[in-house]
Amino acid sequence: MKKEHFPREIQPHLIPSPQGSYVYECLGCGARHGIEKLLYTCPACKSVLLILDEDWDRLKAMGGDLWRKIFDHRSMLTQPGLRGIYRFHELIGSIIPLESVVYLGEGHTPLVGANERLAKWAGRPFYFKNDGQNPSASFKDRGMASAFSYLNHLIRDHGMKEVLAICASTGDTSAAAALYASYFVEGVTSAVLLPQGKVTPQQLGQPLGSGARVLEIPGVFDDCMKVVEHLSENYPVALMNSKNAWRILGQESYSYEIAQMFDYDVSRLMVAVPIGNAGNITAVLQGFLKLLDLDIIEALPQVLGVQSEHANPVYLYYMEPDPQKRRFEPVHVRASTAQAAMIGNPVSMPRVMSLVEKYRHLGGEEAVQVVQVSEQEIMDSMILANRNGHIACTQGGECLAGFRKAVSEGSVGPQVVGVVDATAHALKFSIFQEKYFNNAFEPEFEVVPRDEYRNAPEVIDTPGHVPSPGGGRRLESGEFQVFVDHAAREVARILGLVKG
Ligand SMILES: *Cc1c(COP(=O)(O)O)cnc(C)c1O
Ligand SMILES: [Zn+2]
Repeated sequence: MKKEHFPREIQPHLIPSPQGSYVYECLGCGARHGIEKLLYTCPACKSVLLILDEDWDRLKAMGGDLWRKIFDHRSMLTQPGLRGIYRFHELIGSIIPLESVVYLGEGHTPLVGANERLAKWAGRPFYFKNDGQNPSASFKDRGMASAFSYLNHLIRDHGMKEVLAICASTGDTSAAAALYASYFVEGVTSAVLLPQGKVTPQQLGQPLGSGARVLEIPGVFDDCMKVVEHLSENYPVALMNSKNAWRILGQESYSYEIAQMFDYDVSRLMVAVPIGNAGNITAVLQGFLKLLDLDIIEALPQVLGVQSEHANPVYLYYMEPDPQKRRFEPVHVRASTAQAAMIGNPVSMPRVMSLVEKYRHLGGEEAVQVVQVSEQEIMDSMILANRNGHIACTQGGECLAGFRKAVSEGSVGPQVVGVVDATAHALKFSIFQEKYFNNAFEPEFEVVPRDEYRNAPEVIDTPGHVPSPGGGRRLESGEFQVFVDHAAREVARILGLVKG
């Protein structure tokens, strides 16, 4: 739609120009640092950072009603810079000119309602939000679009040169980083560090396909993370992990899209997300807090963090009801099918602590909950979801299992509707489905497939006297008819079909 066809009051705001005053804010000592340089931890105290718009209050003058109209109408524009997550430009990177936005098709992922059978099983109606329908097939693209758009801005407008983008990954971060880096014609190359043998073949294939240097490190993700942190402190590289606060900004778009999909009435929602390095839950909390602050929503939704029993440091931390007595302890992770969240020492833990406190202050103690689920529950939930029309990965299964658990434990009000994050596409994690169907889980996973959920292909045999095209030989037409008759009869027999 053309600009002149939009309502007059929003025309001046449709196409945003760079604005705002951004700084890194340290969550440890409160110091603020300029954003001209890439910074991942506070130079003064080494704590993690978040990005703050010091001129934020200007946005409050607009009023929630106008903001809602602007965001809704922007979806009818065709500018590439506004097609993805930057529809919410003022909230997630307003200093970045639209010309620097790197858009590869991220964001605006579908919200798909659970059918009656699955909703009944979960105990409440709910939706999956399919973030596996992002370009590299996980939600990580939201944060990468933000981090790479900012890099592009530094390159185009501030003379930054020859950036090596580097990250440690449980698989999806590297797929996303390599994809966005590969779009640059010059100025950016990428290298990714993966825990050897701890990512799926699909996730390994993605950065290779995007042309990134792929380095496999013995150990688990937490070990890789230490190596890239060392690199980012001692070499000129751009760290693309969620320690990079620009990633968090982009991932906030997940909350904005949910609000928009529910016409900004989110008060009865419970938004469930898996927790690994805790960047995602940080962004989701921060996103809804910003919407509330600008009166774009009237009340906060509940947020449910979900962890596996095999990688549960955040769950253990919030188990302790008395905030004074809580002590964060990293855990040693065990084998998890929710491999993308198999992290024992989440980098964003200080962000989570700070935001959960704020969120509970405004939304009540129940506004943020954390549950843990077993590996068995993760797999059963994923398999069952996908037998009911979804495309959930194992982390999506984890999330659904967590929502069902919260419902069964009575901590979910009767009116609540769930929004469950399918953080990646099922195909990325198909090896776990395969292990389930073939009853091939190594004992450390502690998963035993349920017979009624198993599935396997059935082969149509041809006995010796029936000609078969399977051998590579071209059949004569008469032979071929014999084969077709036989195969059709076999298929009909197996499926219990009766001639009509
Ligand atoms: C990264 C990832 C997670 C975990 O998100 P964090 O931000 O690390 O907590 C969950 N699911 C998938 C598919 C992921 O790629
Ligand atoms: Zn500090």
